[in-house]
Amino acid sequence: MKVAVVSNPRHRAGDLIEFLMLRAVHTFHRFVPVDLLMIEGEFGDAEEGFLSELFRSIKHRKVTLPIIWLPHGTGWNLPPAPEAVDGNGQTVAPAVLLERIRAAAGGFPEFRCSPFEATVAELGADGSIRTERCAMIVPEYPGIGDYHVHTRAAYCSENMDIPKALEMAQLSNLAEIAFTEHSGQLYFCADDYWNGRYVWRTRGTEAGCRVFPRMAEYEETLREGAAAGKFRHGFELDVDRNGDVALDAADRRVAQVRLGAVHHLAERFDPHIAARQFLFCTESLLKYGVHILAHPFRIFAWSGLPEPPELYEPVAELLRQYGAAAEINFHQNEPRLEFFDLCLRKGVKLSLGSDSHNLYEVGFFLPHFRFLDELGVMGRLDEVLFRFQENSDRRG
Ligand SMILES: [Zn+2]
Ligand SMILES: [Zn+2]
Repeated sequence: MKVAVVSNPRHRAGDLIEFLMLRAVHTFHRFVPVDLLMIEGEFGDAEEGFLSELFRSIKHRKVTLPIIWLPHGTGWNLPPAPEAVDGNGQTVAPAVLLERIRAAAGGFPEFRCSPFEATVAELGADGSIRTERCAMIVPEYPGIGDYHVHTRAAYCSENMDIPKALEMAQLSNLAEIAFTEHSGQLYFCADDYWNGRYVWRTRGTEAGCRVFPRMAEYEETLREGAAAGKFRHGFELDVDRNGDVALDAADRRVAQVRLGAVHHLAERFDPHIAARQFLFCTESLLKYGVHILAHPFRIFAWSGLPEPPELYEPVAELLRQYGAAAEINFHQNEPRLEFFDLCLRKGVKLSLGSDSHNLYEVGFFLPHFRFLDELGVMGRLDEVLFRFQENSDRRG
């Protein structure tokens, strides 16, 4: 049985520690799975609504990890702790289990301080307890960037805000960040976008979807955010079934960093036609000049189709030919080692993208670094990671 403990978050107004706590919830739910998470100790200033984003995200992402809240003092409106928990076959009070783990670990790290460490305890059947620490941020690495972050202009934004995202980037040791909004969401209404109508009833045709222009809103969001610090900006470009990329010529000036993504397939009932269409759309994005292919192959799982491993080779080859990077992305996505291994062998760069829709995700690279470790490239990140360069504009 595994138990994770977050100790002493010591919140102060505006410190964003709630998003690091939320990061811990998602870490122990999905990436370092445990059976129970305990959050204990000094919670700091009891501010109204302090943990509302945390509970909203738990509900939104359907997190089923049991969490026990054990704050010191009163004034916290949190779910009450159960009287007893299972401590590997033994029923004990949560506080008793917590003290056993604390004793085995020789004390808990302060979650309040960077690198925002939690403790993971493995309870053996013989009563033994082995503990290790798990940090919510990765070590500082020169030039590391998150090239896939959404803004409040996204229909799917949960709480994105550029100034706060820049703070999260700093807390996460990022050297740079790029805001890359869904281009299709800036030209079509939410209903036409989410239903994928824009890929088959394309713009400029008689039956085309009504254009719902929101580019000015995105530019305004970027302008406002610019007062809070430095960042890059661009798009996660959508493409229709004709291979036309959803970006007007007049809006290209905003397209500094260009991700390309297949979010909808016009044909998703026949796996062979879907695969052919995916390749066509992917090459159309690469021809257009995207720097990074976002979450390659995610569309298959999203369309209820099996991922076609026979496309790994042709897609990796297209990336090599066009000099674009493959994105490691865990946002509702499971990247496959086999594909990224193939990319590495072809010299295709790997880009790290959080695909943030929620502030806790900005620069959250724990899963990415575990993946890079599995790929065996931790010793040569300089060589394999994509880095944006101003002159990497390949459209000419
Ligand atoms: Zn996407
Ligand atoms: Zn995205």
